[in-house]
Amino acid sequence: MVAETSFVVHVPSTIYQEMVEHVSSGYPNETCGALGSVDGRTIKHYPTANAAERPDDFSIIGETDLIRIYDDIDTYDGELIYYHSHPITEAYPSPRDIDYARRSGYLYIIFSHRHHPEPPYARVFKIDVQGQVTEGKIAID
Ligand SMILES: [Zn+2]
Repeated sequence: MVAETSFVVHVPSTIYQEMVEHVSSGYPNETCGALGSVDGRTIKHYPTANAAERPDDFSIIGETDLIRIYDDIDTYDGELIYYHSHPITEAYPSPRDIDYARRSGYLYIIFSHRHHPEPPYARVFKIDVQGQVTEGKIAID
């Protein structure tokens, strides 16, 4: 069960379109990247490579990319939102996603390609330290 308007993440339509293109370019592997946000409003998009050992099964941002993104986000005092794609399954955090998310504290945007070749769709989640999942809303502005 998820509350309907627990939180909202605003994404400019140009950035949302870039994210769709990025995750689509990685299909059928998982693809990942990050957003920098301030007060729930997306400021910047950081598409990255997937550094996971098995990119068909998981996705992580490599250390070098992560440091570069953090340094940049620091310049505008923003927050990192992590996003990645699920090639086959629903846009919902897997047990492994929940484990990573509750330790990182990032908001998670997940795309699903399950209706491929239709365009992927996205959902956003907040995952607390206990692993409790709360769904928010993505507002494409
Ligand atoms: Zn996942």
